[in-house]
Amino acid sequence: MEYRKLGKSNIEVSVIGFGCEGFLNKSLEYTKEMFDFARSYGVNCMDLYSPDPDLHKRVGQVIKEYRNEFILQGHICTKWADGQYSATRNLNEVINSFETQLRNLDTDYLDIGMIHYVDSLETWQQVIDNGILDYAKSLKEQEKIKLIGLSSHNPIVALEVIKHGIEVLMFSVNPCYDLLPGDDDCEALFDASSYEKEFLNFDPLRVQLYEACQREGVAITVMKAFGGGELLSENSPAKLPLTPTECIHYALTRPAVVTVFSGVRSKDDLEKSLYYCNSSDSEKDYAKVLAKLPKISWEGSCMYCGHCAPCARKIDIASVTKFLNLCIAQNEVPETVREHYKALKYHASDCIECGACEKRCPFSVKIIENMKKAKDIFGY
Ligand code: SF4
Ligand code: SF4
Repeated sequence: MEYRKLGKSNIEVSVIGFGCEGFLNKSLEYTKEMFDFARSYGVNCMDLYSPDPDLHKRVGQVIKEYRNEFILQGHICTKWADGQYSATRNLNEVINSFETQLRNLDTDYLDIGMIHYVDSLETWQQVIDNGILDYAKSLKEQEKIKLIGLSSHNPIVALEVIKHGIEVLMFSVNPCYDLLPGDDDCEALFDASSYEKEFLNFDPLRVQLYEACQREGVAITVMKAFGGGELLSENSPAKLPLTPTECIHYALTRPAVVTVFSGVRSKDDLEKSLYYCNSSDSEKDYAKVLAKLPKISWEGSCMYCGHCAPCARKIDIASVTKFLNLCIAQNEVPETVREHYKALKYHASDCIECGACEKRCPFSVKIIENMKKAKDIFGY
């Protein structure tokens, strides 16, 4: 299992975590069995969007003996009433629900306190006006949460909130959603008709979001990497099914992404996601599928997929290109990017322009040109 740092903190999360839907209405024995199985692969994190008290009590009981080693992403702004989950922006309800959550989980703190489901700028304004953002900040001061997070499907909202002290963004990431423009109506993401037109390439706002998060040290935790399961089936909006391993690798190769919360409805689902940990480079390689997708052209855009490897001079082409793009987006070389570039074993200046990589890139990226630009920008 690979671990990545949660933004600017020293908290390390496994690149695969699990969501909580599959744990609803299950027994304590089942919960323990799934946690033991996931932990045997090194999974150390879970998203708990549901405020279901029974779920929280079971999870709290199971993780009690290793609480400090397990990263919980809990949610602020959810409530449980009449046996149902709902979102709330009423501060009193938010406070009551959060305190109940801690009690049910039998813990003093959450690692991430995620302001739940903010898909429009109007809702974000409510979060501010109703004192919810300030409440989240006070929870951090009291060490009841370690990091302030926010979940959204809308890149317009996400780009705004990261200017306000949000440290972790839970965002829906997969190759189909990455084509669609940001909009308050996030139902469009799940509607097959949205994908009927021809797509030229990535939505620029989404690219901008990933780059801004990487630059600002905001960690992205991923939901809907499989598009609710649709991307894995013949009915995929992409018209070709991807494997869980390909979807997970796609999300993990976006800038700033640290973990994918995989939806697991059964042990079989969990096994399929955890297969990623032992999969080969060729099994992870989503480029070969994406290049074949009808109606979508990714021409000239680097996916950071690594399909062009191996480089004759062992350059990590995907990483060099990612760092180059981060500099181009900001029109300067951010210090963190300079450090990451420096840490690479081989640099753009090692390129001998053999062209072998360009023949392998399914998206016609001008790699030699990019290596020259990176050499100019970084100096080597
Ligand atoms: S240059 Fe092409 S093959 Fe290489 S990482 Fe980018 S998109 Fe993938
Ligand atoms: S052209 Fe440069 S980057 Fe591409 S394989 Fe050759 S040496 Fe590596």
